[in-house]
Amino acid sequence: DTARVTVLGLGLMGQALSSTLAESGHTVTVWNRTPGKAAGLTEQGITEAATLGEAIAASPLVVAVLLDHDSVHDALDPYVEALSGRTLINLTSTSPNQARELARWAAANDIPYLDGGIMASPDMIGGPDSSILYSGAESVYAKHRPLLELWGEAAYFGEDPGLASLWDFALLSTMYLTFAAFYHGAALVSGAGVPAAEFATRALPWLTGSAATIPLQAAGMDSGDYTTDVQHLHFTKAAADAIHQTAVEQGVNPAMFEHFKNLVDRHVANGHGAESFVRIFESFKNPAQ
Ligand code: NDP
Repeated sequence: DTARVTVLGLGLMGQALSSTLAESGHTVTVWNRTPGKAAGLTEQGITEAATLGEAIAASPLVVAVLLDHDSVHDALDPYVEALSGRTLINLTSTSPNQARELARWAAANDIPYLDGGIMASPDMIGGPDSSILYSGAESVYAKHRPLLELWGEAAYFGEDPGLASLWDFALLSTMYLTFAAFYHGAALVSGAGVPAAEFATRALPWLTGSAATIPLQAAGMDSGDYTTDVQHLHFTKAAADAIHQTAVEQGVNPAMFEHFKNLVDRHVANGHGAESFVRIFESFKNPAQ
């Protein structure tokens, strides 16, 4: 019986996931801690359960889309007996170890468990750019894959339930730090009266072009071979010093750039000036380096 699905949590994400399931013909039951958030959904034929117990009883598959790790325990601990024998797909954002803890909790209570990390905003769910990363019970992933693919690409990373969250946060942190770097650059030129929108017209192709070197950099990171005949750390140090000086001159907060500069300085000081600046990766993996 893969037609009946219960969704717990009607934030914007829970609403989007529920709505997509209903559109494809699933029998969807929803529950939210605070009632009154299901108005748009009941118009689609979705049933709002009066209690969490009713919501769990309605379907063999339960999808949780709550706030955080604590909220999953707050909501589900009192209903663990009702959940036993049903499948739980948890799309609530948690750290890898929190996901592993939930998987152990589920296993101890005979609840097949799949963890997911959503790489999309609610409006993207079901669209071409949506993807959700999964890890945990492969049997759950395999059985429900057609349903999972209704929300977007459904990528599976392995039985370790922490892996989806790990990949999710690795990708998210890459995005956040890249955006923050863009804000730093925009702040530099803003002192000369350049609007961020104008900076963006040059920053986007510049970033896109530079990002094409990521696979080449990754090869060095994996092999630990940081030899280069192009831009070595001595060169990067001179550039980093000048950029840092520019931030100070422009009155821009230099803290984020300073972190990068300090890593470059450290690797040069440790005698690696002739190697590629990609070498600072070693200091992210091991802060003592
Ligand atoms: P919201 O903050 O809009 O909704 C949170 C939901 O959790 C609400 O339904 C809230 O219920 C419920 N909740 C919070 N605490 C408890 C609790 N102690 N017991 C029971 N229910 C509780 O979040 P979203 O819908 O935006 O996101 C849901 C999850 O999806 C989060 O983990 C988020 O990180 C993740 N996600 C969201 C994305 C987004 O763009 N929105 C993108 C990727 C992942 P109530 O209404 O009663 O407060």
